[in-house]
Amino acid sequence: MDLLLIGPPGVGKGTQAARLRQALGIPHLSTGDLLRRHVAQGTRLGTAAAAHMRRGDLVPDHLVTEMALDRILDVSCAAGVVLDGFPRTLTQAEALDSALAGEGRRLAAVLHLTAPGQTLLRRLTGRRICGGCGNGYHLDTRKPRTPGQCDSCGHRLVQRGDDATETARVRLRAHTRQTQPLLARYRRAGVLHEIDGCGDVGDITRRLLAAFAAHATGPAPL
Ligand code: AMP
Repeated sequence: MDLLLIGPPGVGKGTQAARLRQALGIPHLSTGDLLRRHVAQGTRLGTAAAAHMRRGDLVPDHLVTEMALDRILDVSCAAGVVLDGFPRTLTQAEALDSALAGEGRRLAAVLHLTAPGQTLLRRLTGRRICGGCGNGYHLDTRKPRTPGQCDSCGHRLVQRGDDATETARVRLRAHTRQTQPLLARYRRAGVLHEIDGCGDVGDITRRLLAAFAAHATGPAPL
């Protein structure tokens, strides 16, 4: 029951993936989160990935693929996983397909969350995180009680380096360029479903779950 949530940075993939994890009872794998953890811990992978991430570029396929497949093929994901941020390229998609096929699994559905470009840019550049506990805030939609300060632990709020305006623009452009072939591949396979990522968080989750339910019992494997 593997499911891929795909969409531009800022569209709410992380939030929705967490809600799908709860609703479907399968783990959520975010390669962005995993990579940031490697960077914070200073692992070899983190060191190799950091410069690419700072520029808003994709991390090279071989590094991400090994890290992601390691987790996807782990026993904790045997019943399926909500994929968030992987695969991002055709090379990664091919590696994923053969790894899943080797286990008698397949991507049941690819859900593409969308929103207008200006909305995405504002969502990204308005995000703030707590430097202490990692809580997330937004200058428009989730303001802290005291500006610039975490409600839970009082630490200073900071902007993620790759949420700065220019880097966010680069990430949005890179996403469009790099995911077109991926979307075309999944559209051809009949597993792609486009979902409107604007509006109430709960409504978006319901749209995603309805599309997944339709696709999970639908088309043949790639
Ligand atoms: P995200 O949190 O998904 O926006 O990812 C943050 C950054 O991590 C991206 O801008 C990339 O530099 C890197 N990254 C995450 N997933 C991948 C992937 N599947 N392939 C290449 N780079 C990735």
